[in-house]
Parts: sequence; C-alpha cells; structure tokens
Amino acid sequence: MICLKKIVKKYKSGSDEIAALNDISTEISAGEFTVVLGPSGSGKSTMLNMLGGMDRPTSGQILINGEDISLLSEKKLTDYRRKNVGFVFQFYNLVENLTTYENVGIAANLNGNVDKVLDIIKDVGLEKRIKNFPNQLSGGEMQRVAIARAVAKSPKLLLCDEPTGALDVATGNKIFDLLKKYSKNKDTAVVVVTHNPEVAEIADHVIRLRDGKIVADERNSSSD
Ligand code: ADP
Repeated sequence: MICLKKIVKKYKSGSDEIAALNDISTEISAGEFTVVLGPSGSGKSTMLNMLGGMDRPTSGQILINGEDISLLSEKKLTDYRRKNVGFVFQFYNLVENLTTYENVGIAANLNGNVDKVLDIIKDVGLEKRIKNFPNQLSGGEMQRVAIARAVAKSPKLLLCDEPTGALDVATGNKIFDLLKKYSKNKDTAVVVVTHNPEVAEIADHVIRLRDGKIVADERNSSSD
C-alpha cells in the first residue's frame, strides 16, 4: 500500500514559485491498475517522480508500506528505486547496442531473476525478437521490451509515463492491456500517467489532476 499524504511540491521559476503539486492525498494499492489523468502541466509527471523516489516533496509524506520515503538518505532512496521501482517511458529508453534479451537481462540481474529472462520476454510476446536490437523493432515492440525490462526487476511499483504517447491507437491499446495484466500480480501496483482519457475505462483506479490538485479520485467496480 502506497499512501500520499498532503504532498506539496513547489518549483522556483525566477522570482515566482509554482506549486506543481498542491496538497495531494491518495492511496495506491498493489493489484490495481491506477491511471493518473490530466492536461499537460497538471502535475502528473511530478506525482510519478515523487512515487518513484526521483524527487522529494516540499512537504507531506510518501508512505510505502508505512515507511516515509521522503525522509530516506540519498543512498537509501537510490536503493529503494533500484529494488522496488520499474519505469516505462514514452520513448522506451532502451540501450541501443543491446539486444532484446540483453536489455531485459540487465534488469533481471538486479533482482536475481536471470533464469526468468526468457519467460518474461515470452510473456510480452517477443520470443521471436530476442536477438534483435531496438532499431530493428517497431515502436510497439520496443515498448514491450521496455515493459519486460521493467517487470524483470519484480518491482513493487511499475510507473509508466505516457507509455503509449508515441504509438498508434491500436498498438497503444495493446500496451495498456499488457500493463493491466501486470497489475493483477498482487505484489505490484501499476501507475500509468497519460493524457488519454479513454484509458479510464479499463482502469481500476482513476486519479484526475488539474493545476496540481486532485479533482477526482475514483475506483471502478467493473473494469475487468
Ligand atoms: P504534467 O506531467 O501533467 O504535464 P508536470 O508535473 O510536468 O505536469 O508539471 C507541473 C507543473 O510544474 C508545470 O507548470 C511545470 O512547468 C512545472 N514544473 C515541473 N517540473 C519543473 C521543474 N523541474 N522546474 C520548474 N517547474 C517545473
């Protein structure tokens, strides 16, 4: 269980201060597919950065199973990120000179999942692309490699920032279905940030942001 309590994140911009997040509180659970929706500039990426331990709040608490990660030392925060968080980005961020197998293998190494690399790749449907390099793959395939790499760590938290932003609608929908499948693992919470409101239909939990505030926080009962 992840609990955000009264999170405020302010950025200085010249003499001005922008509250990217302005008193945000919510709970995110393992086993759920959580979608964070909102227009550009509403604070979505900032919220994801807080959850992933990439940045700290100006005030408030981020409780992960009861521990406030905003109080961790830099080293412990890096440890938290490495062991517990998988990231999926809009532009995949794969290592260009490594094959599918190697890109996933590096991440699997971190958590002792080396013997599972093949299964993980099969699970995202890329068993025929194991020896290919990223520039030999389509956008949808590259995103599947990125998802395989992220889940190879067995993360407690899978954070996805506009994962379908560079894909056509049909390919993007398949990626959302794949992410939803991983959210059904009871040990993993999947959080997807997107400006695509259609995803709300398959989400278990929808958080809507506007101007750094939560304007709606709802759980769907019939998302399966
Ligand atoms: P979204 O992901 O919804 O597009 P962001 O979380 O990226 O929104 O940004 C929220 C607000 O915070 C925006 O007004 C943005 O300009 C501002 N912001 C984000 N990161 C920084 C930063 N590092 N420095 C200054 N302002 C920032």
